[in-house]
Amino acid sequence: MTTKEENFGDWYLDIVDKANLCDKRYPIKGMNVWTSYGWKIMRQIDTYIRQEFDATGHDEVCFPLLIPETEFAKEKDHIKGFDAEVYWVTHAGLDELDVRLVVRPTSETAIYPMYSLWVRSHQDLPLKAYQIVNTFRYETKQTRPFMRVREIHFFESHTCHATEEDATDQIHEDIEIMDRLAKAICLPYMLCIRTEWDKFPGAHYTVGIDTIMPNGRTLQMGSVHHYRTNFSIPYDITYEDENGEHKHVHQTTYGMSERLVGALVGVHGDDQGLVMPPGIAPFQCVIIPIFKKDNAAQVAEACMSLVNILKDAGIRVKLDDSDARPGAKYYEWEMKGVPLRLELGGRDIENGTVSFARRDTGEKGAIAVDSLVPGIRMLLDDISRNMYEKANAYQKERIVGIDSMEGLPEEGVLRFGWCGCDECGHKFEDTTGFKILGRPYRPEEFSGKCVVCGKDVTEAAYAAHTM
Ligand code: ZN
Repeated sequence: MTTKEENFGDWYLDIVDKANLCDKRYPIKGMNVWTSYGWKIMRQIDTYIRQEFDATGHDEVCFPLLIPETEFAKEKDHIKGFDAEVYWVTHAGLDELDVRLVVRPTSETAIYPMYSLWVRSHQDLPLKAYQIVNTFRYETKQTRPFMRVREIHFFESHTCHATEEDATDQIHEDIEIMDRLAKAICLPYMLCIRTEWDKFPGAHYTVGIDTIMPNGRTLQMGSVHHYRTNFSIPYDITYEDENGEHKHVHQTTYGMSERLVGALVGVHGDDQGLVMPPGIAPFQCVIIPIFKKDNAAQVAEACMSLVNILKDAGIRVKLDDSDARPGAKYYEWEMKGVPLRLELGGRDIENGTVSFARRDTGEKGAIAVDSLVPGIRMLLDDISRNMYEKANAYQKERIVGIDSMEGLPEEGVLRFGWCGCDECGHKFEDTTGFKILGRPYRPEEFSGKCVVCGKDVTEAAYAAHTM
């Protein structure tokens, strides 16, 4: 097997296969089958996201997959941005359709015609809805499981607000949600306001959510967009204010996708397999019975009692009582990245303990059965903290400050001065081959010169090679 250090790309494909997260043999390139363990991980993330959005007053909805071309074409930047990567339905049975249908690449143009019917008065605002659906994009670059696919498992929220300020507050709430999600999946991330030429088609501005992968490239895990009235004008989404005046709503969206799975495989995994963050691991611990002929029944019974105690406490647990040898079980659950392995044998039963091994550090020890639940909770918390800190320290190291376009490192994220003009931005990208991620969303102290024109600047910019 290729090591992560030697070749990240090959290692990634290997791990995805060996941990059996998806099956790439489906006969459409870039459309993979979610196999059971991969889908369990995705569902854990979806569950987490649902809880967060439900708790912040969003309602889950589910819109049709197909969008009439007439609706899709209403916002001109939007259609220009997506034209080359959408799938079309042109026939129904034997009949050619009068109006072609787009298979959604994202759902603005499906949702907004309905929003224009749903929003009537200021009392209908804010309108906050989300859906978790698959979207389709005809990806022409080389596909890679979870990171670059043609059928994408996708989360999207779409909100309408009375004023631009209310919409801006929504962006703040979205970022707070991202902060909590990042802690749950132990993934540090960067927030950059994308350049004008890289923002979402139709957006006023886009905040990109990027994480730095082990090969020094960034992966965009999600994005938040402020639309102002760019969509509400063509889609005629208006409300009547307190004075009876009709006004266009201000809108935002928040999108995230199965790339979150790709990011956590890539960032946390090692040469033994996945390392799953306890917050979203399908199984937070696996119990492996260690028995001899004469105590098999006793060990099995003690294991069942452990399972019940942990399940009652809300800990996600898997008992592996298959016929495989313990060594083979260790290998499998290590590959699947289960945070905590518990072993129970005759000696543990005598001592009133359970043996454990941590996936993140390999550390081994024993917990008293009497304090099993708090003991395991403490270990899981510590694993989460350790995984986050390790990833954070690594990612910080990959950010390099530069003050000219000469002698650049081959990989990593560049931090530099940019005056902000399009001309310098394009020249920087063309000269260096790095892509500008944008300016930090959270202001950072900076003083320097634009690396292209030499003008004094007080705001940093970031650039990277992207996955
Ligand atoms: Zn400049």
